[in-house]
Amino acid sequence: MTKPILVANWKNHPKSLNEARMLLRDLSRNALRYKKVSFFIAPPLAYFESVASRAGSFYHLATQDMPPFFHGTYTGVVTPDILKSFGVRLVILGHSEQRALGETNEAVSQKIKTAFRSGITPLVCVGETSRDQDGEHFEFLREQLKLSLAGLNRTTDARKLMLAYEPVWAIGKRAEDAIIPADLAQSVIFIKKVLVDMFGRATAELIPVLYGGSVESDNARALVSGTGINGFLVGHASLDARNFKIIASSLLGK
Ligand code: PEP
Repeated sequence: MTKPILVANWKNHPKSLNEARMLLRDLSRNALRYKKVSFFIAPPLAYFESVASRAGSFYHLATQDMPPFFHGTYTGVVTPDILKSFGVRLVILGHSEQRALGETNEAVSQKIKTAFRSGITPLVCVGETSRDQDGEHFEFLREQLKLSLAGLNRTTDARKLMLAYEPVWAIGKRAEDAIIPADLAQSVIFIKKVLVDMFGRATAELIPVLYGGSVESDNARALVSGTGINGFLVGHASLDARNFKIIASSLLGK
């Protein structure tokens, strides 16, 4: 059986390298638990060297974004060849905070192709900005999926893709303001249906769908049971080792 997937998106935290090292030390106290899931940490680039030095022990290194080109001369840009040299295995693409800065579905699609060329697995984020009674958010989701994943080969690339359903309205809140399990289950069914339409059932079944948006120790268990997700993408709660260990346990059914 494949392991559940847990991705810690540290965003631009913690606020110093020293605190990042302390967080890693605290997380390592539960290394055995993290080894039972596929665990990735996506730190700020400035902390890469420290975080990369322990990668492989109980987590893998991920990155929070990537440019759409492979290598070349670009001031201020960290290209995939450099990311690879640190051991990056996974890249978060199409995060709503990047989309809010102007990233389009077409740009996400370009980055996904560059990630595949670089041998880095893309974790593509999709999610509606608001949810309405009439279900219009499903059309928004369908459009985002179709455009962001356009042109992927179903027998090669699409089989190595990972998705994160992150409703924008649910990001950065507290557990009680997050999505409810019944709505999450509905969205996951919808996403899987779009994936089947795009890539066929055999390929769609291989694409893990994670959930992200205010996952905390208080709601993780409810969000994982019966909703069809294959793991979590966690923002603020990944900075608190005690909270985060409970989230990892919930993926293991504990
Ligand atoms: C995120 O931004 O990817 C995320 C999941 O954030 P949070 O857990 O803080 O809602």
